[in-house]
Amino acid sequence: TLEIRQLTRRFGAFVALDRVSLDVAPGELVALLGPSGSGKSTLLRILAGLDAPDQGSVLRDGEDLLAHDASRRGVGLVFQHYALFAHMTVFENVAFGLRVRRRALRPGRQAIRQRVLALLERMQLAEYAARYPSQLSGGQRQRVALARALAVEPAMLLLDEPFGALDQQVRVSLRGWLRDLQRSLGLTTLMVTHDQEEALQMADRVVVMHEGRVAQVGRPDAIYDVPASPFVHGFVGRGT
Ligand code: ATP
Ligand code: MG
Repeated sequence: TLEIRQLTRRFGAFVALDRVSLDVAPGELVALLGPSGSGKSTLLRILAGLDAPDQGSVLRDGEDLLAHDASRRGVGLVFQHYALFAHMTVFENVAFGLRVRRRALRPGRQAIRQRVLALLERMQLAEYAARYPSQLSGGQRQRVALARALAVEPAMLLLDEPFGALDQQVRVSLRGWLRDLQRSLGLTTLMVTHDQEEALQMADRVVVMHEGRVAQVGRPDAIYDVPASPFVHGFVGRGT
């Protein structure tokens, strides 16, 4: 279980995260919704180790997650602007996280090769292994980004608008595919999305953020049917 407690992040006088608390169960997919500037990316960046809070704590299975460097947290990251390495092939991109591990944790060459090929197979990317990112479609690139995140066998997946730049049709097909994969791996996942339909379809629970705070947490249908505040009611847009 992931226990996020009272996380606060200030930028000068501005409070980007204001005492955010949230529990995430093993294998759960939680969608973060909220207006621009509500603190969604800040929360994921802190969990990923790319930023640090001013106050608060995060425990994972009782262990202090924030005490570890980013590279030791066992998180897989897919951010919209966290691009693939353009000068590396698909295979090399996916293998990267394994190759840069400290020697003691690094699998051998053959083991890396087998693991990457199996992953590409599973992601329906096997035929693209030798291509460069510029030679792929947007949807294929997102699948490579996910494969790269999964290659290190993360304990947790953090996705910030993973399908943000894609057209509607590709988004819809990747949604189902990602959800199946996430379920089959039992991978605890936090996903930021602007797309409410995406949240509704994919998430076990939805967190609605507003001005750095958690405005509501609940199952997707509860968020829509029983919004906790006028803000949530207005934001999820089923109002009137
Ligand atoms: P969006 O949906 O637009 O991605 P968000 O919910 O992800 O928004 P954050 O990126 O978490 O929003 O930012 C929350 C607030 O904190 C914003 O007002 C932003 O301007 C501010 N902020 C974030 N990072 C910094 C920083 N490094 N310095 C100053 N302010 C920052
Ligand atoms: Mg953001």
